[in-house]
Amino acid sequence: MAYDENLTVEHPTFVTHLECSYTGERYPADEVHGLSRAGKPLLVRYDLDGVRKALTKDTLAKRPPDFWRYRELLPVRRVADIVSLGEAITPLVPLPRIAARAGAGASELIVKDEGRLPTGSFKARGLALAVSMAKALGIKHMAMPTNGNAGAALAAYASHCGIKTTIFCPEDTPEVNVSEIALQGATVYRVNGLIDDCGKIVGEGKAKVGWFDTSTLKEPYRIEGKKTMGLELAEQLGWDVPDVILYPTGGGTGLIGMWKAFAELEAIGFIGNKRPRMVAVQASGCAPMVRAFEQGEEHAPRWEDAHTIASGIRVPQAVGDFLILRAVRESGGFAIAVSDEAITAALDEVAREDGFLMCPEGAATYAAWKQGLADGRIRRDERAVLFNCATGLKYPLPPIRRTLDRHKPIDFASL
Ligand SMILES: *Cc1c(COP(=O)(O)O)cnc(C)c1O
Repeated sequence: MAYDENLTVEHPTFVTHLECSYTGERYPADEVHGLSRAGKPLLVRYDLDGVRKALTKDTLAKRPPDFWRYRELLPVRRVADIVSLGEAITPLVPLPRIAARAGAGASELIVKDEGRLPTGSFKARGLALAVSMAKALGIKHMAMPTNGNAGAALAAYASHCGIKTTIFCPEDTPEVNVSEIALQGATVYRVNGLIDDCGKIVGEGKAKVGWFDTSTLKEPYRIEGKKTMGLELAEQLGWDVPDVILYPTGGGTGLIGMWKAFAELEAIGFIGNKRPRMVAVQASGCAPMVRAFEQGEEHAPRWEDAHTIASGIRVPQAVGDFLILRAVRESGGFAIAVSDEAITAALDEVAREDGFLMCPEGAATYAAWKQGLADGRIRRDERAVLFNCATGLKYPLPPIRRTLDRHKPIDFASL
């Protein structure tokens, strides 16, 4: 099938309705929705029997390598509504040298490198879907609180289809993020507070001037976009799943989305009932999920004085807390916190040893893998997938001061 054909031909879609993730209450598809009446995230439901009949692995294998290949499991009904900036299938990159040093098999430690996506982070997946659906539903003005990457992806996709955006980020958000958001056509403000303080401003703007609230999990479609990580991963592993997935968890969209993906893939007969253990990785300066997991709680109260260099996971409170905790527990996984020192050391080690420059949040998953090996919760013969959620190049890098004076004699043997 030619690429153009895929983008212009209408395709059958299978969305039946939306469902409150907490109460199970049903909501009609094809209408603008935020949270459910219970104040919880809405999940998109599909006619999975229909998908099972309509889609084969062979059909899928012939499609272009972008995540719209999974369109039967995505909510966009009309091809004309797809807003795309070129969402590549992200590669699985083994880290053989550090795996070997840790005594693990060379192919057991793999990174899914999400830094290759538009705007340099996996937020592109969620926002490509959220913006495509906003376009389909006629939304004109989207607003969002962000630690950086989500705002950049929203700005890019919304501008690409002429939707207006207003974005709020904590005042210490990295300069590169604020700049890219502004350059990509959004109106962006630094706010003296954390991401949930920014979220309150968006909530007020929604009530007062009708902005569409694009906050994490407060609209139904970012999960569907993030779900494609699970679909891709299973297809890349030959319709199998790894033993363990280590996911840097902020709002948890990706973890929740992948868990949903695996259930849907089983329902359409593409994978069996094996599931990876889902490991929610947080920073010790902001670890609400870890605390709730360890205390056996269903919900995770706000983490006060949240701080970590891994700004993408500096999320003190998540609306989808119970969905994250449920997926982690049902999978037999766990939640784990790593210190900023461990994150920095992990980033340095992976870059130096395997030539892979991770973002701090991605490096946190490697630090967590090592900690998991040390405390016996992960075995060396298990296949583990780390998520590098953004390109390491988006973050401030340490200055290097070494110079060479070309007018002086050079001692080559010492270089
Ligand atoms: C958003 C983000 C995360 C957290 O992802 P969630 O799915 O919202 O938990 C992790 N790392 C980076 C770089 C991010 O931008």
